[in-house]
Formats: sequence, structure tokens, C-alpha cells
Amino acid sequence: MKSLIRDMFDTVDEASGIGLAAPQVGVSKRVIVVSLKEKGFERIALINPVIERMSVEKETIEEGCISIPGIRADVERPVSVIVRGITRSGRMVEIDARDLLARVFQHEIDHLNGTLFIDRLSAQERERIEPELAAFVQKQGAYAVSFEQHDPAKITSL
Ligand SMILES: [Zn+2]
Repeated sequence: MKSLIRDMFDTVDEASGIGLAAPQVGVSKRVIVVSLKEKGFERIALINPVIERMSVEKETIEEGCISIPGIRADVERPVSVIVRGITRSGRMVEIDARDLLARVFQHEIDHLNGTLFIDRLSAQERERIEPELAAFVQKQGAYAVSFEQHDPAKITSL
């Protein structure tokens, strides 16, 4: 587990990303890492993360994803969430997250459920990125945007 988490942080760094879910590196486990060091947060790895609560208040922010490089689009999500999960050292934690941190948690936990940010776009936004997406699929194959070959039902808890 610790080496998986280390590998995931390495992958995030190499891609200059801010978060990653294990299925993105070919591992069907419910593990995410969040790396917002530059924004003043510690690096966080969570095992079996769950969103306990989300705010009614929402906001729209542009998102991208290491799995679909180059494509960015506006996504509406709750501003704050409470996330529960297990840390690397095996401690159960509950994190009250707002703004960017809340957003990264939601994006990464979505990955564990087989959802990409492009599945959460308004019809208008989806239409806007459609040509870029089509070009990406043509280059990488449809699997790349059907969330690799990971069936969410088969992504196991630990
Ligand atoms: Zn992503």
C-alpha cells in the first residue's frame, strides 16, 4: 500500500497534477492522493474515501485531468464537502474541505466510481469540448476516455 501511494505521488509530480486515483495508474483499489503543497496543504493520501456530506452551495470552476491531457472544461460542484477515509498510517479521519481542496477530493473520488469530469459537464460545455474529445479518442483509443478498462464495480475496497 505504501509503495502504491508513493508511486501515485510520483505520477502526480511528473504530470504536475494536484490529485490522482489508483485506477488511473492501473490499480483497481479505492485509493486517492491529493497534492496541493503549493496551496499550503499537506499531501494527503486516503484509502476508501467517501463523501459524507456536501454543501448545497455550488460553484463552477475549470477542471482538467491527467487521464485526458489537454482538455479542460467548466464543472459545477458543491463548494465544500466532508470526506471520510483512512490515512497511510491507518487512522480514520474526517476532513472538512472547501474550495480547491473540496474540488480535488470530489474529482478523485469520482474516478473511483468510474466518473470523469467530462461526465459532469453542462450540455453546452460538453458540446464545446466535443471536437477536442473526438481528436483525443482518435489518437488514444476509446478506452482512454471510458476510464480505461476499470469497471467501477470491480474497484475494491481495502
Ligand atoms: Zn482526473
